[in-house]
Amino acid sequence: MLDVVGSIPIVDTHEHLEAEVDRLSRVQDPLSNFMHYVCDDFFAQGMTPEEYAILTDRGRPWEERWPVFERYWDYAKTTGYGLALRIAIRELYGIGDLTRDTYPKLVEAVKNRATKGFYRWVLERANIRRVIIDHGDNTGESLPKFDRDLFTGVIRYEGIVFIKNWRDLANASRRLKAPIHNLSDLESAFRRYIRETLPNFVGVKTSYPAYWQSLKFEYATFNEAEYALKAVIQGKEGFRDYAPSLDTVKPLQDYLFRVMLSEIEALGKPFQIHTGIQSSCNADGTPTNAVYNANPTLLINLFREYPSVKFILFHASYPYSREAGVLAKQWPNVYLDLCWMHEINPKAYEDILSEWLELVPNNKIMAFGGDYGYIEGTYGASRIARQAVARVIQEKVDKGHWDKEDAEKVAGRILRQNAEAVFKLTQ
Ligand SMILES: [Zn+2]
Repeated sequence: MLDVVGSIPIVDTHEHLEAEVDRLSRVQDPLSNFMHYVCDDFFAQGMTPEEYAILTDRGRPWEERWPVFERYWDYAKTTGYGLALRIAIRELYGIGDLTRDTYPKLVEAVKNRATKGFYRWVLERANIRRVIIDHGDNTGESLPKFDRDLFTGVIRYEGIVFIKNWRDLANASRRLKAPIHNLSDLESAFRRYIRETLPNFVGVKTSYPAYWQSLKFEYATFNEAEYALKAVIQGKEGFRDYAPSLDTVKPLQDYLFRVMLSEIEALGKPFQIHTGIQSSCNADGTPTNAVYNANPTLLINLFREYPSVKFILFHASYPYSREAGVLAKQWPNVYLDLCWMHEINPKAYEDILSEWLELVPNNKIMAFGGDYGYIEGTYGASRIARQAVARVIQEKVDKGHWDKEDAEKVAGRILRQNAEAVFKLTQ
């Protein structure tokens, strides 16, 4: 079954990769480049922000930074994040494990590979045909530096929706290229901006509410939103750093979130949303939000209000994966994406996929999105995912529930065809 699954060219629904030219233009430094996610498991052991700064400081010789890595790696290499990294360096660079002896060899191997065509080389080895890139809050131009044969993009509008103070409002005004004196100005400029930019992308992505606030969006009227905007605008007259409370500005965000959803609905694009576990891989290593604020059941009112928007719940909503499965079973407009999950917890990825395939119609599940900032991570994640998919579908055959054709068909759908259909990708 692994051969069958291995032969499927994957559509990777979610990555944070920088353009290849940018990756190649920087110093090839695995101790900083390859720490994405592994650092979560270093912070979980108590790594301090100072240690993290040393570890990722490319200006220092690696020998000075190595003791920090060594202090935490032996305990972290057994997690899914550690596994993805070890698979990547073994299969791409021929390095068995990261030790003081092997590290200089890894640096050499990475440097030698860092030439034009590097991304294609990795993606071909992973048999990944197409990658959807999430570049954070971008300008509206779609991936100017990427090879469009391999990559396509989603856009974020978070900088406009999640206004908290007058600085955010000023930034939104600049991005929208429109003066904003009241809610009508803001709404019409935002709607126009979405209509101009969204056709260049295959969908919209949002992470902000799960990372910083909550996935609960109450209904707000125009007047309530305008009242909140008034507090934001008035802040300009007072202290420079004045910001109204979140409770005060929330109706504005709730209103603008719906403005965005209504345009997504009008343009028929899918909506990717972060749910569940948040990475703590940031400068101070502390979680930015309580995980219960990222429970996907908080979105139910929006599923009801926007029945024709396809809501794609990211990261298996882990640990709320059973809730996510139930949501996709109940709501025709809810889809499930296991991106990032294969390396968060490879065992749970397998169990959840297996459960979902008996709970949810198989055209609503997408099984792969590396979610990495460096392409070697994408490779490692793809190996974990393929093996797990092969085991899961084999088990259904062994139990006598599916025949072999069912299994092959489902593998093709969850690794490729479902994403092609949802994002309307043409080969
Ligand atoms: Zn991501």
